[in-house]
Amino acid sequence: MELDDITISRAIIEKFSKDLLNYLDVDVAIVGAGPSGIVAAYYLAKAKKKVVVLERKLSIGGGMWGGGMMFNKIVVQEKAKFILDEFEISYECYDADYYIADSIEAVSTLCSQATKAGAKFFNLMFVEDVRIQNERINGLVINWSAVETSKLHVDPLTISAKFVIDATGHAAEIANTVVKKTPRMGPIFGGMLLSGRAVAEKIISTDVLSV
Ligand SMILES: Cc1cc2nc3c(=O)[nH]c(=O)nc-3n(C[C@H](O)[C@H](O)[C@H](O)COP(=O)(O)OP(=O)(O)OC[C@H]3O[C@@H](n4cnc5c(N)ncnc54)[C@H](O)[C@@H]3O)c2cc1C
Repeated sequence: MELDDITISRAIIEKFSKDLLNYLDVDVAIVGAGPSGIVAAYYLAKAKKKVVVLERKLSIGGGMWGGGMMFNKIVVQEKAKFILDEFEISYECYDADYYIADSIEAVSTLCSQATKAGAKFFNLMFVEDVRIQNERINGLVINWSAVETSKLHVDPLTISAKFVIDATGHAAEIANTVVKKTPRMGPIFGGMLLSGRAVAEKIISTDVLSV
């Protein structure tokens, strides 16, 4: 059978548009698909929350692919090891309280498990602002990354979310949009995994999302 380019184009446009429309209104919107955003998305999706993750870059996984100085290994302390276990990421004990894992296996497994748990990822989109109503953040203002990099003057669109998580890493872009002082990253190696889980649990423990 001869391939029909138009069928392929229609399939992509139709399915993507449907997804985008479906995720205009969510329980939780996460900005940034680094390890903390992915872990938060995983636990929230597992708890049956409707969760979307918006990532500026082409690939999700943030800064974890590169390990330390592009030596693609990650070190995780005992406290965060249970997350490696939950995701079935293999690791070795390097020294007391220090576990070492392959960053490629770690990131690809986080991505795969979060997606399978039901989290929806949109890459190549960035969040440029938050929506605030009645003194509460309840949505995000989004645009294509290509618009940002080309410095095009194109209006963004808005999505609605009961909760917004800033998982933009050290930049803390969203928190900085709201307030000017936001501390990031604790001294624990593997802290980004723990912070993702902690924020998911905090949201799950509220009864705002329960039906
Ligand atoms: C200086 C430095 C110190 C570090 N210290 C520690 C440490 O103490 N402990 C430790 O375990 N690890 C540390 N790390 C390494 C750590 O593993 C990585 O920084 C890790 O990737 C952080 O995960 P994250 O999910 O918080 O953020 P990131 O991996 O940085 O992911 C953030 C994601 O958000 C996206 N993003 C940002 N802004 C937007 C936006 N507006 N819209 C859409 N997407 C956006 C980015 O493209 C990126 O993919 C350090 C790294 C550095 C560079």
